[in-house]
Amino acid sequence: MSPPWHHAWIGLGSNLDGPREHVERALSELERLPLTHRIAASRLYASSPVGPTDQPDYINAVAHLETRLSPLALLDQLQALEQRHGRVRGRRWGPRTLDLDLLLFDEQRITLPRLTVPHPEMTRRAFVLVPLFELAPSLVLDDKPLARLTAGLETRDLRTVLPQD
Ligand code: ATP
Ligand code: CA
Ligand code: CA
Repeated sequence: MSPPWHHAWIGLGSNLDGPREHVERALSELERLPLTHRIAASRLYASSPVGPTDQPDYINAVAHLETRLSPLALLDQLQALEQRHGRVRGRRWGPRTLDLDLLLFDEQRITLPRLTVPHPEMTRRAFVLVPLFELAPSLVLDDKPLARLTAGLETRDLRTVLPQD
């Protein structure tokens, strides 16, 4: 029997070597992962960096996938994609060509050495919740509607990137 389809939500980020191109390319590469379809992608957003501020602004987006991969197999694919974008692991939250975080996987709670789902920081990050809200306005996380979680965040710094930019 083939494995069931799962819904997965991916947070994308880049702030190095043409961030917008990295994110746009990664969005189309996510579409071509094995046993996976991309259902939707948010607009692109620009935001100031989390942590060290001596680095360029980020471009962020969220993608909604349908996949037959297991959570760890999907994480392997995401990390391989980061590597193909030339990601070099430096200081924590330092600049990177591509960051792919597995935000949600169905309604599963996963606590493994390599993988925590839901992504532990997501409810504190406007650059994650705002694009996620665009794709799934009725989503509820930990009994809290996404609309309410998003309303409680500082979003002044978040700018949508217009197609003609
Ligand atoms: P943050 O997780 O706070 O956004 P980061 O994205 O900069 O920080 P990374 O250096 O990209 O962190 O990842 C560190 C490790 O986090 C990875 O090696 C991966 O195994 C682990 N990890 C745990 N949970 C997740 C998840 N939900 N999505 C992606 N990686 C995860
Ligand atoms: Ca991240
Ligand atoms: Ca990451």
